[in-house]
Amino acid sequence: MSNFSSDEDVITLTEKLQHSQLVARDLALKSRREATILKRLISRLIAASQAQDDPLINQKLSQIQRDLEAQEDVGRLIPQLALVERMVNKHTHAQEKAKDALENQFQQSGETLKCLPGLPAQLKRDLRNLIQRPTTESHGNTEKIVALLQLYERALKLLSLPANGLTAKELLNIDRINQLASELQHLVTELDFDGEVGDRLLDIRNRLLLSPDAQTLLELTLESVQLILEGTRNERKASQSFLNQLNEDLSVLQRHNGRSIDATQSLTDQRTSLNEELSLSVDEMQIHLNEASSLEELRPSLNKVTDNLASIVARNKELEEREQQLLEQLQHNEQKLEALYTQTMDYRRRLGDQERKLLLDPLTKVYNRAALDDRLEHEYRCWLRYQSQFCLAMIDIDHFKSVNDQYGHLVGDKVLKVVARTIHQCLRDTDFIARFGGEEFVVLLPDADETTRTDILDSIRETVARLPFKFKNKRLTVTVSIGASMFMDKDNIVDVLERADNALYNAKHNGRNKLVWAQ
Ligand code: GH3
Ligand code: MG
Ligand code: MG
Repeated sequence: MSNFSSDEDVITLTEKLQHSQLVARDLALKSRREATILKRLISRLIAASQAQDDPLINQKLSQIQRDLEAQEDVGRLIPQLALVERMVNKHTHAQEKAKDALENQFQQSGETLKCLPGLPAQLKRDLRNLIQRPTTESHGNTEKIVALLQLYERALKLLSLPANGLTAKELLNIDRINQLASELQHLVTELDFDGEVGDRLLDIRNRLLLSPDAQTLLELTLESVQLILEGTRNERKASQSFLNQLNEDLSVLQRHNGRSIDATQSLTDQRTSLNEELSLSVDEMQIHLNEASSLEELRPSLNKVTDNLASIVARNKELEEREQQLLEQLQHNEQKLEALYTQTMDYRRRLGDQERKLLLDPLTKVYNRAALDDRLEHEYRCWLRYQSQFCLAMIDIDHFKSVNDQYGHLVGDKVLKVVARTIHQCLRDTDFIARFGGEEFVVLLPDADETTRTDILDSIRETVARLPFKFKNKRLTVTVSIGASMFMDKDNIVDVLERADNALYNAKHNGRNKLVWAQ
C-alpha cells in the first residue's frame, strides 16, 4: 500500500502518470517501426522470389509491392502472397511438363538408333542405359544431343559398310569419317561445361583432331552424349537444390512473419486497453481531487489509484519484454532474409553468366553462331528499314591445318584465340564478330561507308600478318583471307553469306592474305 500525505506525493503521482504516457507513446512508435520492418521483409521476399522468372508471377509480385507502398496493414497482404505461392507451384508444374516432352523427343531418337543393325554389344548396352536413364536435361542441350545422335547414326552406317581393302569406296569412307569427325568437333567445341565434364569434353575434342577411325568416332560421339547428360544433370541438380532451399527458407519466414503479425496485433490490443485503464485512473483521480476537501480525505482513493498505476506499470514492463522478443525475432528474420537475398543475387548472377556463355564461343570468347544468327537478323532488319551501308565479311585463317600439323593443336588453339582478339580490336564498338566455325570468323560492319569498311578490313588483314607469333624459337607468320560483301537490292541474308563465301574462295585462289570484294 502506498501512503502519502503531501503535495509532493501528488507531484510524484503526476510524474508516474507522465512516465506511463511516455511508455505508451514509445510502444506506439515501436509498433510503427515493426510495420516498417515487416514491409521491408516482404519487399525483400519479392526481390528474392523473382528468380522464378515468370511474367505473371512477377506481375503479381509487383502488384503486392505497390499495395505495400499504399497501405498500412501488411497483414492483408498475406493472402496475396499465398496466391503467389500457388502460381509458383503452377509454374514449376509447367516446367515439369516441358521436361517430359523433351524426354519423349530424346526417347524417340534413341529408339531409332536401337533398331540399327551391326551395333557392337557394348555400345548397344551404353545406348540402352542412356535412353533408360531418366533425363532431366535443360532445353538448350536437347538439340545438341539429337544432333549427336544423328551423327552417331551416320557413323554407324559408315562402320557397317563392308571393308574390302583400300578400294575407292573405302577411300570415300575415310573422307566421310573425317567429315563426321570435323562436325563432331564443332558440336563439342560449342559445349561449355565447367569442371570434370568440361575437361573430358576438351579431351574428346583433342582426340577428334587426330583423325580418328570410325569405331573411335562412334565411341567419342557416344561419350559426348553421355557427358552432355552428365553436365546438364549436374547443373540442374545445383539449381534445383538452390530453389528447394529458397522455397523452404521463404516458407519458414512466411510462417514467422504470420506469427509476428499476430503477436503485434495482440500487443497493440493490450496497449490500447492499458491506455484506456490509464486514462480512467486519471479521470478517477481528477474526480477525487475535485471532491476532496483535505488530503486526509483523499488518501484512500489515492491509494487505490496508485495501486492501479503500479499494476499498469508492471504490465507495461511485461509488454515491453514481449516487444523486445518480437523485435529480436524480426531481426533474426531480417538477417536470414539478408542472407537469402545475397544468395539469390549470387544465383542470378550465375544464371546471367550462363546465359552470356550460351552466346559466346568458349575457346575464342567471341560470339558464337547462335549469337551471329540473332545479330545478323537484327542488323538485316535495320538495313531493310534504313538502307544504310551494311557490310558482311568472312575471314578465314590461311593454311591453318599446317599450323596444327606442325606445332600441334594446342598451338593452333592459341593462334585462334589471338587472331579472334586481334580482329575484335580492329572493330568499332558498333561492329560485331562471331566465330563461324573452325578457323573462320564473320564480321558485321553496319553503317560503314567505303573508306571505313575498307580501312577496317585492311587493318584486320595487316595486323594479323604482323602478329609476332613465336613457337619453339621459330617465328610463325599467320595470315587471313577475307571475302566481303555489301547488302544490296533485294538481298536476303543467305544471298550475302554466299557472296562473301565466294569472295573468300577467290581470295584463297588469288594467293591468300587478300581482301576480295564480292561482285
Ligand atoms: P585454307 O588456307 O584453304 O583455309 O587452309 P586451311 O588449312 O586453313 O583449311 P582447312 O579447312 O583445310 O583446315 C582447317 C583446319 O582447322 C582443320 C581443323 O582441324 C582445324 N580446326 C578447326 N577448329 C579448330 C580448333 O578449334 N582448334 C584447332 N587447333 N584447330 C581447329
Ligand atoms: Mg583456313
Ligand atoms: Mg576454313
